[in-house]
Amino acid sequence: MILNEIELHAALKKYFGFSKFKGLQEDVIKNVIQNKNTFVIMPTGGGKSLCYQLPALIKEGTAIVVSPLIALMKNQVDAIRGVSSHHGVAHVLNSSLTKTQVKEVKQDILDGITKLLYVAPESLTKEEYVDFLQSVPLSFVAVDEAHCISEWGHDFRPEYRNLRAIINRLGDDIPIVGLTATATPKVQEDIIKNLAITDAKVFKASFNRPNLFYEVRPKTKNVDADIIRFVKKNSGKSGIIYCLSRKKVEALAQVLQVNGVSAVPYHAGFDAKTRSRYQDMFLMEDVDVVIATIAFGMGIDKPDVRYVIHHDIPKSIESYYQETGRAGRDGGEGHCLAFYSYKDVEKLEKFMSGKPVAEQEIGNALLQEIVAYAETSMSRRKFILHYFGEEFDEVNGDGADMDDNARNPKKKEEAKENVVKLIKVVRGTKEKFKAKEIVLALIGSTNALIASHKTDEKPFFGIG
Ligand code: ADP
Ligand code: MG
Repeated sequence: MILNEIELHAALKKYFGFSKFKGLQEDVIKNVIQNKNTFVIMPTGGGKSLCYQLPALIKEGTAIVVSPLIALMKNQVDAIRGVSSHHGVAHVLNSSLTKTQVKEVKQDILDGITKLLYVAPESLTKEEYVDFLQSVPLSFVAVDEAHCISEWGHDFRPEYRNLRAIINRLGDDIPIVGLTATATPKVQEDIIKNLAITDAKVFKASFNRPNLFYEVRPKTKNVDADIIRFVKKNSGKSGIIYCLSRKKVEALAQVLQVNGVSAVPYHAGFDAKTRSRYQDMFLMEDVDVVIATIAFGMGIDKPDVRYVIHHDIPKSIESYYQETGRAGRDGGEGHCLAFYSYKDVEKLEKFMSGKPVAEQEIGNALLQEIVAYAETSMSRRKFILHYFGEEFDEVNGDGADMDDNARNPKKKEEAKENVVKLIKVVRGTKEKFKAKEIVLALIGSTNALIASHKTDEKPFFGIG
């Protein structure tokens, strides 16, 4: 079935009320309608859902949508039900359904009413469901948040790795549509390999968010005061402040409240009711600020978040991009401010040291990249986009002046002599030391480790 442009636009208008496709949507949809494997990489908010929803509504049979979060599925199902006269046009199939509900879902699918069936990957492994789905006409399988397949992604889910095997069992040549907002070349490669869609046509949108301003400030012991000052200067605007630990979330929320800021904390330690209450307060603008761990944000679609602050360094550039991506969805101002101290990096390293070696290696590699981002004096936008495999012109590109390094270039200094001294220390200590001890040895300060190696007796001790 191939629709012409007019029919496609008519369907877009009919089902979603939009008069134009966004970005690459139209090309993607045409590809999906032709039963071809498709791989969509678009930043969050780019409009990925429509890339499978519209073809699913148009095509014969039921489309299976694999999605990692039940909450996200429910939102989407409700939205789709709103565009159709049939309640059964979209269903969720998961462990929360009663036997009777499962029966209803199956009947709607058999009757050809259900166009979109949302499932969690673990439900798809249930024999009962596999048996049933084998027996009904399927239009395609959409794998949303496909980066969950990759250990290099920011949200690895082992169950995602079995999808291909299950899809094979559902039928021959079922087209697959992978979708993700994660564009690092490594993750892309993993997705294509794992879903075995090497023939897929790849649609990749730019990840540049020209309205976001990127800034990194050194994190001192006054960081809380710095944050209060920033928030007060932006009072009345919506903002998110990310912290690494639940403890810090609660402490900082209190500090802000005491200082007259309307703020709520959010982390996975609160019960579901409290969490959704705080989330609603933020969405409805009863409060300006939410202080949160990374548990907050997936599926949050508040268009006018004006700033995202990182009290602690995020664990990868990927996560940083996703988290800051929640600012300025409406195209307006979005200030992304990260506080950086090397101490935080050491903390994260220590935290990871308890994990399996492979995980540690990946974690450290990702961490080193975010350190490089924090310390760079080049265009931060160029740095981020390069990470996603995209070239950016830091002079004329869209948003070129939207970062601290572009506005206030770091002063350059002649560092040759100092570098020579540093290399002397690194060599002299036989590359045994981490950055901290090397600095101490360079400036002539000691600690237990330095003393135990008798480094303080070496000729290079304190030359810096
Ligand atoms: P993603 O999954 O890529 O993060 P969504 O599919 O959730 O993005 O879509 C983001 C927003 O864009 C939604 O509010 C959606 O209604 C809107 N949107 C999608 N397609 C269009 C379009 N063609 N015209 C206008 N708005 C659109
Ligand atoms: Mg999405």
